[in-house]
Amino acid sequence: MQKGMLIILSGPSGVGKGTVREQLFKDESLNLAYSISMTTRKPRPGERDGVDYFFVEETEFEEKIKEGKLLEWAKFVGNYYGTPKDYVEQLLAQGKNVVLEIEVQGALQVMEKCPDATTIFIVPPSFEELERRIRGRRTEDEAIVQERLAKARKEIATKDEYKYVVENDDVMLAKEQIATIIKNHCTNQD
Ligand code: 5GP
Repeated sequence: MQKGMLIILSGPSGVGKGTVREQLFKDESLNLAYSISMTTRKPRPGERDGVDYFFVEETEFEEKIKEGKLLEWAKFVGNYYGTPKDYVEQLLAQGKNVVLEIEVQGALQVMEKCPDATTIFIVPPSFEELERRIRGRRTEDEAIVQERLAKARKEIATKDEYKYVVENDDVMLAKEQIATIIKNHCTNQD
């Protein structure tokens, strides 16, 4: 069986990566699987352990780093986030195209290790719109919002490290653009 392809999806907090990803996963022809990350962040309302993230304590996360069990990891706004390596490798071996929805520091680590990965950065139509979306979430206090906004500016500045930049003004349009990128990459690899 042909090995699957690694797809990195990045973009600042609030850009709508999760919503675009949901739409992508409805398209069965893309043969996608989601890499569930591990984090020390506390679950937001509605988030489920083992579905959205594996929620762990700091000591457990640090053990995984030491044991070399993470394909990449980063600290983001005070919490650890990382990609469990074995799970991703299993999915790729099964021929799945594996989506890593990760921030920039982690993405750069994966680009080094896997230069063939399809890397996509999602940008908002404007920074003002991004701020409106982050505030609209209303789950975090002002200090965290400010930190996420500052981080977003820095992240957007690295977008040219990615092979593709897609604007998320309209979710379905962004989804279609990404689906086309994925299909073209699959064809090129045949
Ligand atoms: P959030 O707290 O909003 O769920 O995620 C914060 C940031 O961490 C987002 O940009 C998200 O894509 C990123 N992230 C989620 N999982 C991982 C991971 O496994 N590794 C890295 N490096 N970033 C991640």
